[in-house]
Amino acid sequence: MTGRPRPAIAALPAYRPGRSAAAAEADHGVVDAIKLASNELPFGPLPSVAGAIAAGIEHLHLYADHGASALRQALAAHVGVDLDQVAIGAGSAGILQQIVLAYVDTSEEVAMCWPSFEAYPVFAMLVEAEQIRVPLRDEVFDLPALAAAIGPQTKVAFVTNPNNPTGTVVGTDEIAAFLAAVPDTCLVVLDEAYNEFVDDPRVADSTPLLQQHANLVITRTFSKAHGLAGLRVGYAVGHRDAIAMIDRTLVPFAINELAQRAALASLAAVDEMRVRVAMVIEERARVRDALRTRGWTTPDPQGNFVWLPVGDVASDLGVALERHGVVARPFPDVGVRITISDRAGNDRFLAALDATGVSPR
Ligand code: PMP
Repeated sequence: MTGRPRPAIAALPAYRPGRSAAAAEADHGVVDAIKLASNELPFGPLPSVAGAIAAGIEHLHLYADHGASALRQALAAHVGVDLDQVAIGAGSAGILQQIVLAYVDTSEEVAMCWPSFEAYPVFAMLVEAEQIRVPLRDEVFDLPALAAAIGPQTKVAFVTNPNNPTGTVVGTDEIAAFLAAVPDTCLVVLDEAYNEFVDDPRVADSTPLLQQHANLVITRTFSKAHGLAGLRVGYAVGHRDAIAMIDRTLVPFAINELAQRAALASLAAVDEMRVRVAMVIEERARVRDALRTRGWTTPDPQGNFVWLPVGDVASDLGVALERHGVVARPFPDVGVRITISDRAGNDRFLAALDATGVSPR
């Protein structure tokens, strides 16, 4: 007997990361596969960030600062909030899990639109919460329907902007109306993991909403635009009382020394980060147009990925792309998500898509 694990954990599906290029190569006998399955940047760390990581190595015999005070301070200044309004976590996934642990008891409810980030249901199941899943409307978060689904037992509602996997956004005005409609007994988590890639003018800075809504927490990450997915740094911004509760669920020293140094250096190089993001946005428009020219339906992409809502051929299309050396992210019976890469990587995706022989839909 291996002890007595909680039944809820035994029933929990493991988080499903994007498949590696090596796995696709082994399965399909292809060489030089490219992974476009996890919405990673196609660039390595900026030189100043690599330097900061190298300089941190000699400190690795010591515990890092549990409170990540220097990073917290820099983020507070960057976002324009007080120091006690920022929590740092191990990736924004870490922060999202901390939020669910801090706020949701067994049998209480977590609300979201669906499909969305696949970790939300896992976190809900971890605490044995009920899930309220409101369907997207035309691939977009349906905020009026989500607001209507929130009841007295709903402790957390996720709003993902841009949404993963569809890449769609809702306007800041719509989020303001949603917050006005939601009771303040429900914490609204605005997941802005892909915020830096948004160029839709309907989306403005969401942080002013914090002034009117103490039940709003905004989460962001260094994994996407900052290109530091492997280091695990995310953060939450919100009311100091909410932040204090979120902080209590942080695993001791979860934000490691190299991660703290790299994130600080990346914040200091925000202009260079924006140049890279601009390249991704330009490539995203090119891929979107290329897809539409070929006859594919794809909603306006606002993250660093495109979405093909192909329904029941999603899994087959995912396998067919892998056979042509491109690892995308199929969501069975829903669609396929493909990360925007550099120009050469995107051209490989478009060529692979053509070569699959799957007709545009
Ligand atoms: N939110 C969304 C919507 C995501 O897509 C992801 C990663 N795929 C995350 C949060 C978590 O990213 P990380 O933990 O690397 O910050």
